Amino acid sequence: MALSDGCSDCGLDINDEYAYMVHWQIWREAGRPKGCMCIGCLEARLGRVLTAEDFNWEIPLTYRSSHGRSERLISRMRFNRDGSPVVLSGIALEEWNLVLRELDNV
Ligand SMILES: [Zn+2]
Repeated sequence: MALSDGCSDCGLDINDEYAYMVHWQIWREAGRPKGCMCIGCLEARLGRVLTAEDFNWEIPLTYRSSHGRSERLISRMRFNRDGSPVVLSGIALEEWNLVLRELDNV
C-alpha cells in the first residue's frame, strides 16, 4: 500500500495520518478498508478511539521516525488503554523515542 493514495473513506491526502499499521484483527473489524485510512476514519468505522495496543509494532511503518505523523496519530499510539505508555524494545524503542523527541521540539 502506498502512503500517498489518500484515505479510502474521506479522501484526505495527508501523509502524516497513515504512518501506522494496526493488527489485522482491527483492520478486519473495520471492514478491511482498501488502501490507506486516516486514523479518524478508522476510528469512526470501529466506533472507538484507538490505543497503542491496536497498532502492530512489529512493522517498521508503525515506529519508524522518518515517517511524519500528526499529533492526533501520535496521541493514539503513545498510550495503552489503561493510560500507561506503550512498551517497546530494541530498534522500535529507539525509533519511537526519536518520534517523541521531535514532537516535544515542535
Ligand atoms: Zn479519512
